[in-house]
Amino acid sequence: MKIAIYPGSFDPITKGHLDVLKTGSEIFDKVIIAVSQNSEKKSFLTAEERVNLIKLSIGGLENVEVDSFEGLTVEYAKLKGAKVILRGLRAVSDFEYEMQLSQTNSALSEHIKTVFLITKPKYNFISSSTVKDIASFGGDISKFVPESVNDYLKKQFAK
Ligand code: ADP
Repeated sequence: MKIAIYPGSFDPITKGHLDVLKTGSEIFDKVIIAVSQNSEKKSFLTAEERVNLIKLSIGGLENVEVDSFEGLTVEYAKLKGAKVILRGLRAVSDFEYEMQLSQTNSALSEHIKTVFLITKPKYNFISSSTVKDIASFGGDISKFVPESVNDYLKKQFAK
């Protein structure tokens, strides 16, 4: 069974993330989308909120599991029996960081490989940070995020 983990901040999950996840779920037998709790980025939503929003957004993807983790991604992958780390690539600007991360993970564990997927062009420019910025000014983010995230962020910023 080919298992991949898809780690990230997902603060919050966007349609770009979902597109990568959907393609990953067509390639691998199982994909575990895992909210990383130890990113140096300070998160807007708690890990629990991010996990719940992912769960509400992945209807129809039967072979996808949602989880969160702390510590090294390669150790988490081993724990889950995954040999593949799935990551998304948007523009060249993602490349340098992702390449460094992938090579660091390979150096830590040579049996774990990173597979990169590219989203559909219409989702390519979407990032969790711009989504939060737009929502914070009362803008419409419904094109960029699943419905559950749209509703939740609207409520958060209305407070
Ligand atoms: P991290 O903090 O680990 O980078 P993110 O939630 O920002 O977590 O992103 C998780 C992964 O999804 C990264 O590989 C990122 O490049 C990718 N990603 C984010 N947004 C998109 C998008 N719109 N299209 C394709 N990949 C994306």
